[in-house]
Amino acid sequence: MSQKRIAVYPGSFDPITYGHLDIIERGLEVFDEIVIAVANNIEKKGLFTTDERIALIREAVGDNPRLRVGTFEGLLVDYVLAQGARVILRGLRAVSDFEYEFQIAQMNHNLRREVETLFMMTSVPYGYLSSSIVKEVASLNGPVESLVPPAVHQALIDKFPRH
Ligand code: ADP
Repeated sequence: MSQKRIAVYPGSFDPITYGHLDIIERGLEVFDEIVIAVANNIEKKGLFTTDERIALIREAVGDNPRLRVGTFEGLLVDYVLAQGARVILRGLRAVSDFEYEFQIAQMNHNLRREVETLFMMTSVPYGYLSSSIVKEVASLNGPVESLVPPAVHQALIDKFPRH
């Protein structure tokens, strides 16, 4: 019996960038389905609301039956199992990502032995790209259209009108 290989790709996605989309595209080469899961963290207030982030992700990925977009609160490992998945997909950029990712992956594995975390290295052009840097540049009215999909670019212009 062949089972679908489903991975959950969790994150803040505040907002989604070409770096995230690269991981999603490459993840689809390895997994049958990916659930893009927006962390609904009430304490961590972002620039975009959870609903806005989801809408921007949907717009960016289009209609693909192999991609789902969802949101989760509480333990990620429980959400992963509820989605019928066994794998958490994460991206790694610089060494600075490693410490934090290592800690979380260890903790998640302790919580649920059957859940594995898999890391994909960033593609060279996106090694420096993060949602925070995009927000910072956009807030200063700097150009970000090469870093984010068009709908996100427009949404950033709306959040930070030119001054
Ligand atoms: P979080 O707040 O959980 O780190 P992010 O939305 O910032 O959420 O990132 C989600 C995941 O995507 C993380 O694993 C992060 O390392 C990865 N990621 C973000 N930007 C890039 C990029 N440019 N290249 C590769 N991975 C990335």
